[in-house]
Amino acid sequence: MTERSNFDPATVGDEGPPVEEKPYKILFEANRCIGTGKCAIASDNWELNLETGIARPASFFLTEDELAENVTAAERCPAKKGAGVIHVIDRRTGREIAPDPNGDGTISVDW
Ligand code: SF4
Repeated sequence: MTERSNFDPATVGDEGPPVEEKPYKILFEANRCIGTGKCAIASDNWELNLETGIARPASFFLTEDELAENVTAAERCPAKKGAGVIHVIDRRTGREIAPDPNGDGTISVDW
């Protein structure tokens, strides 16, 4: 079991395609999704499951070309009182680039 105090969200799901191919990844706080569907409007990568009321990305790993629309989805997510539950991470640095690019670089998940 992972020690919460030593837990680094940047390492979640890091066994994906090579970083050179897909330099970005999604961290998704599905348990905090409130089912608004704004992500699905912003990006073809996102779909709202009408049965569960929870969104899901088709891919958790992103190319440069897929970055912008997923950043928009992260920025428009209204969950957690506007803080958002979609996080776009630069796999090369482990830093969050959306929705909080002006933070201290740490990932603003709230699990
Ligand atoms: S925009 Fe956020 S709260 Fe709304 S469905 Fe997508 S992930 Fe869930």
